[in-house]
Amino acid sequence: MRPSHELLQVLPDGTVKQRNPFTGTQVWTMPGRGKRPLPAALDEPTPLPPGGVADRCAFCPGHHLDNPPERARLLREGDQWTTLTGLRADQLALTEPLFRRVPNLFEICSLDYWRLNHGVELSDEVVERAEQYLADAAGRAHLAHVWRLKHRLADDAPGPDRQALRQAALGWFGTTHELVIPRRHHVEGATATDQLASSGELSVAEHRAYVAMSVEAMADLYASNAAVRYVSVFQNWLKPAGASFEHLHRQVVAIDEVGAHVDAAADVLARNPNAFNEHLLDVAIEHGLVLAANEHAVALAGFGHRYPSIEVYSLSQQQEPWRLSPQQLDGMSDLLHAMHAAAGPTLSCNEEWHHRPPTLDEGPVETDLPVPFRIILKWRISTLAGFEGATKIYLNTLSPWDVRNRVLPRLEELRSQGRIAPMQIGDECQVAKGSIPS
Ligand SMILES: [Zn+2]
Repeated sequence: MRPSHELLQVLPDGTVKQRNPFTGTQVWTMPGRGKRPLPAALDEPTPLPPGGVADRCAFCPGHHLDNPPERARLLREGDQWTTLTGLRADQLALTEPLFRRVPNLFEICSLDYWRLNHGVELSDEVVERAEQYLADAAGRAHLAHVWRLKHRLADDAPGPDRQALRQAALGWFGTTHELVIPRRHHVEGATATDQLASSGELSVAEHRAYVAMSVEAMADLYASNAAVRYVSVFQNWLKPAGASFEHLHRQVVAIDEVGAHVDAAADVLARNPNAFNEHLLDVAIEHGLVLAANEHAVALAGFGHRYPSIEVYSLSQQQEPWRLSPQQLDGMSDLLHAMHAAAGPTLSCNEEWHHRPPTLDEGPVETDLPVPFRIILKWRISTLAGFEGATKIYLNTLSPWDVRNRVLPRLEELRSQGRIAPMQIGDECQVAKGSIPS
């Protein structure tokens, strides 16, 4: 571990050198490039046809049968939120969900991955649910339609045989790779293709529901089978960030390894349980990089990432997201929402969730390591090239201060318009050093 003063340095010519305290990633920002306008990740906008893009988008309302059988849907009536689960195919059109959880049609780890590599079998409950869906004519037709979509076959092509359809159904009902999909593709009343319903365009209450539903999916996937060691949650917004759709969605994926980030954090924490404060939060406070805070979370301009980044930290004593109180989770959601809103809907970004997996307690590494729940936003405004590949030094056009200087005025504006939740912004932030529980 480098001493803290080496993590973020400004050289005499203004070059900023950053080093990630956990991964060691080295980043340079050369002076004088931070004021240029950020590239929009969208084509020139064109007028929207009446009815929007619903015809072409499998995530839009009216296309629910193009997705594998739904896990859950969230309805809203006034301030009342209701979750529906276990719907039949013929019930999907009866209500208008604001958010849905559906299996990813192209999952990362398949049923066979868990079965053949880990000997994991589906629970009786999952098998029964799949059998029920198959026994119903509308359910069977839905499954066959999705199977044809997955195999890029026309709807009048010969369908799957009984065995193939049953296998597909078991895969979807037992999925370990879900999508959480908000209803809207464009904002209400949109007239042009670039008026997309990004995370920041959701209302504060909608964004809280979106986060809570993602956390529910996470907890469910941890519980789904004993070989799951980590559940990765991420959101890719627009093409440069790897999104194949412009319809907002978050992915929740169970895997059988904890991944390099958890390992790196666990390594550092085993040597210094206060590392997230000493090498991260405290450094950000000293350098004026705190962007916003509330009682439960803090957002800061990050350093040592391949792309200009914002990090949102939970200040809860609980490290697993599903153990946060609803108020603590809302606190995280509010800052995340505000950061998305400040970046705007045309800026491409990755949202990556990091947390302590419950299995860390049982593994060979230290028990009870205080790996904080945090969400990192990476602005995909540049493309990695030969220099990065050859040196492993990443060039960012925006330094952490450039990120701060862009975000703060926008946050003030959004707050005065009532578009984000109440929060402290910039110098108002009351976050003390050492606030991340360790
Ligand atoms: Zn859509």
